[in-house]
Amino acid sequence: MNYEKALQHPIFKVISKSAEELKIDSYVIGGFVRDFILNRGLAKDIDVVAVGDGIKLAKQVAKNLPNKPKVQVFKTYGTAMLMYNGIEVEFVGARKESYTADSRNPSVENGTLEDDQNRRDFTINALALNLNRNAFGALLDPFNGITDLKIKTIKTPLNPDITYSDDPLRMLRAIRFATQLNFTIDAESLKSITRNCDRIKIITNERIVTELHKIIESDTPSTGFLLLEKTGLLHHILPELTALKGIDEVDGQRHKDNFYHTLEVVDNISKNTTDLWLRWAALLHDIGKAPTKKFNKKAGWTFHAHEFEGSKMVYKLFKRLKMPLNDKMKFVQKLVFMSSRPIVLAEDIATDSAVRRLIFDAGDYVEDLMTLCEADITTKNPRKFEKYHNNFKIVRNKIIEVEARDQVRNFQPPISGEDIIKAFNLKPSREIGIIKEAIKEAILEGDIPNDFNAAYALMLKKGSDLGLTKQ
Ligand code: ATP
Repeated sequence: MNYEKALQHPIFKVISKSAEELKIDSYVIGGFVRDFILNRGLAKDIDVVAVGDGIKLAKQVAKNLPNKPKVQVFKTYGTAMLMYNGIEVEFVGARKESYTADSRNPSVENGTLEDDQNRRDFTINALALNLNRNAFGALLDPFNGITDLKIKTIKTPLNPDITYSDDPLRMLRAIRFATQLNFTIDAESLKSITRNCDRIKIITNERIVTELHKIIESDTPSTGFLLLEKTGLLHHILPELTALKGIDEVDGQRHKDNFYHTLEVVDNISKNTTDLWLRWAALLHDIGKAPTKKFNKKAGWTFHAHEFEGSKMVYKLFKRLKMPLNDKMKFVQKLVFMSSRPIVLAEDIATDSAVRRLIFDAGDYVEDLMTLCEADITTKNPRKFEKYHNNFKIVRNKIIEVEARDQVRNFQPPISGEDIIKAFNLKPSREIGIIKEAIKEAILEGDIPNDFNAAYALMLKKGSDLGLTKQ
C-alpha cells in the first residue's frame, strides 16, 4: 500500500533528501500516519525515525530548509526537534529498548526500524511510511495496525503484560485513545491493564494529569472514566470519584449512584462547553457527597454541606496531582462550592432578589455555574426534566435583566466605609460594618436601587437607628 498522498507537505521531500545525503533510511511514524488514515485533519506534529543518527538528520534537514530553523537537541533522549511552519518535527534514531521494574525509562541501544516499531505502544501507533526516494510513501505495518484502525481496536504490538508493565503510562494512553477515537480496547489488553493497574504508581502525576486532561477534553469523557474504573486505575488516580460509587439502602430508602450520575453530568456539560476547567468542575461537583453521606429516619439520606466539603477536597486533589493551585483551581473550587445554588432556583419560579444574590455570589462565574447546573439535570422523569430546563431558561433571562438594571456582578458598594466615617465623624468601628452590610442587603433584596443617593439615605437612617448623628 502506498500513502504518498499523506506526504504532500513539502517538509517530507526535504527529510527524504537530507536522509539520502547522510546515506540513512528515514520514516514518518506514529500519530501522523494514524491520524491521516483516520482523516483527523493535519497533525500538529510529525515523528520521524532515522535508522542512524536522528540528531544529525534533524540538523541536515534544518540546513536544507529555506528558513534554516533552530534545532533543539535533547541529548539524554537522543532526539531533536525543529519547528517548520507551525509544525513540530521530532527526530529520533531507531532504537531497541529494555526496561527494569522500577522505572518507565528504558535503557536503549541502536536498532532497526522493526525494533523501533516493536517499542511502540499500540499497533495503530506503530504504522510507518517510508521517506526514502525509491519507496516514498510505502506503508510499513508489521502488526496489522491498518486492520485495527478499521475495526477500531486498541491493541499492543507485543504481549500486553510486557507492554503495560514496561511503561504503565501506556495503560492510560490506551484508555485515552479509546475515548478520543471511540475505539474498543482489545479484551486481552483490558485484562492486562486490570492485572497491572497498580503499576501506575511509578508514573509521575504530571503525566497522569496530561492523559486525564485529554480524556476530559474528549466528546464523551464517560467512556474513559468507565474504563478507568473498570480496570482499577481510577481508584489509584482519583479515589474521590470511586468513593461515589454504589447505592446504599436503609429502611427501603435509596440514594442515587453518584459516580454514574457524575459521569452523566460530565457528558452533558461536554455538549455545551469545551472549557477544560468547567468540565473538571462537573467531574468534581459531587465529590463531597461521599464523606458527608448520612442517614436518619426523618430526613432519609443527606449530604449536608457536601459543596463546602467538596470545595476543600478540590484543593487537596489538585495539590496531590500537582495541578496548578492558581485561578483555575479557584474556579473549580468556587463552582463546586456553588453547584447546588441554581438548582433551588429551577425548582420554583425565581424571585429577582434570589437572582441578584446568585449574581452577587458567583460574580463572573455565573454563566458557567448555570451551564454546570443545567448539565446536573439528569432526572429520568421527562416532566421534571422539562420543567427544570424551562425554569433555567427563565433564570438565564432574569440574570440578563437584573444585570442590566442592578449591576450587582462584582458588586462595589455605592457607599464606602470612608463615606460612613465622614458622615458620622467615626473612628474605625463596628457600626461601619453594620451599616455597609445593611446597604448591601437592601440592594440585594431589592429594597433600594443600587445607587448612591438611595444608599446614602439608608445610611443616614441606619446611622440614626444606631444612635449616630450626622456631622
Ligand atoms: P497525540 O498527539 O494525540 O498524543 P501521538 O500518537 O502523536 O498522539 P505522542 O505522545 O506524540 O502521541 O507519541 C508519538 C508516537 O510515539 C506515538 O504514536 C507512539 O508511536 C509513540 N509513543 C508515545 N508514547 C509512547 C509510550 N509511552 N510507549 C510507546 N510508544 C509511545
